[in-house]
Amino acid sequence: MSVSMLLRLAWRQSLIRLLLFYAFALGLGLALGEPWWALGLATLALAARAYWRLYRVLRFLDWRKQLRTVDGQGLWAALETLIHRRQTENRRRSRRLVRLLRAYRQAATAMPDGALVIHRRDGRLVWFNKTARHLLGLRYPQSLGEPLADFFAGQTRVRDWLASGQTDEPLLDLPSPADPMVRISLRLIPYSAREWMVVVRDVTKLMRLEQVRRDFVANVSHELRTPLTVVHGYLDMIEPEEHPELAVMVEEMRRQSQRMTQLVEDLLTLSRLEAQESLPEEPLAMAPMLVTLRREAEALSQGRHEVRVLDEAGCDLTGSTKELHSAFSNLVSNAIRYTPTGGRVTIRFEKVAGGGVRLAVQDTGYGIPEQHLPRITERFYRVSTSRSRESGGTGLGLSIVKHVLSLHQARLDVESGVGRGSTFACVFGPARVRMRSQAGDDLEDVS
Ligand code: ADP
Repeated sequence: MSVSMLLRLAWRQSLIRLLLFYAFALGLGLALGEPWWALGLATLALAARAYWRLYRVLRFLDWRKQLRTVDGQGLWAALETLIHRRQTENRRRSRRLVRLLRAYRQAATAMPDGALVIHRRDGRLVWFNKTARHLLGLRYPQSLGEPLADFFAGQTRVRDWLASGQTDEPLLDLPSPADPMVRISLRLIPYSAREWMVVVRDVTKLMRLEQVRRDFVANVSHELRTPLTVVHGYLDMIEPEEHPELAVMVEEMRRQSQRMTQLVEDLLTLSRLEAQESLPEEPLAMAPMLVTLRREAEALSQGRHEVRVLDEAGCDLTGSTKELHSAFSNLVSNAIRYTPTGGRVTIRFEKVAGGGVRLAVQDTGYGIPEQHLPRITERFYRVSTSRSRESGGTGLGLSIVKHVLSLHQARLDVESGVGRGSTFACVFGPARVRMRSQAGDDLEDVS
């Protein structure tokens, strides 16, 4: 029955009953000769009944007890019926919620990855599953309420990472607090307005494989170095003038062995960069660096291109001079190699919004079709293999640039279009910018 119908019926019945009750009391009073007494007593009886029903309703409103199913009619019965309905609905809803919660908890517990919920403000643990307990050496319930970073004693990067709230970059390759032989990765996921979820993954196997791969490449490159030096040495000893019939062959062999040497050197550089977690933090004077870049560009171009250098930032950088020089040189060399004769290469050092700086190498060369851009920094990825080979490329240059920049918390921005030319820019954050030293100012006029 609908609520409004139930109430209408209850009102009507209560009114009829009240009238009948008073009529009966009045009749009895008249018969006994005391109508006022009879009416008074009837009112008292009604009030007592009302109090009793009210007491009963209040007692059952205690949420733990459930109002039994009510029969009868009238307003009190309607009130009890409505309360009973609400109670039943609420119970059903909370049972459904508990079931749902239990299912979620079970799913989270059964996950092969560790999961933790922490407060965003102070990183204190709110909840964790069984895998997280094993991977991080947590104890239930003692560890609840403890800051997560406290479990990584000596690993300040966990505290910094949590403070920065980096949700897109996982924290890779950490030793597990429970067992340093186990390597773990942490990923931060926004969970609620006040909490983060941290997913902990065991990456020991992955890291081991990665190490094997790295060692393999480094060892092969290293082993190839000596035989190549020998081959190179012997080839250098052959004078083409003395053996004119071998001249073409010797020249080709020299070129190929040089290419192989370059390949081995690039692979070794990459392996070395991959194994490094940080680089020396030294002042890098940009004015002399730009002079060197210009000299290198001109040497490579042999007068075939117009080379422009614009030093507009008026500041210097902090980082590894050697590695950054190799990264910038790579970009300059690419610009010259992939720009036909008569083109222009512009090296510009300028400020960017937000306090950072960028070193951009712009060319008017062949350009890169858009579909290749996302993969351009992969090892051995070439847009045109023949063009890369012809120009002495190894396909590793941009990988090296990317690695060097990531070790300086910088990024590589690439803009390019076929026939339009390309711009490769190394963008550094404000933390890498330093005031230009006096010595640098003296050498500033390089454009
Ligand atoms: P490579 O040694 O082959 O030049 P890189 O890693 O330096 O290898 O570059 C990868 C590929 O990106 C190159 O093979 C080339 O196709 C493309 N590329 C790099 N720089 C430029 C540029 N300035 N203009 C056009 N294409 C470029």
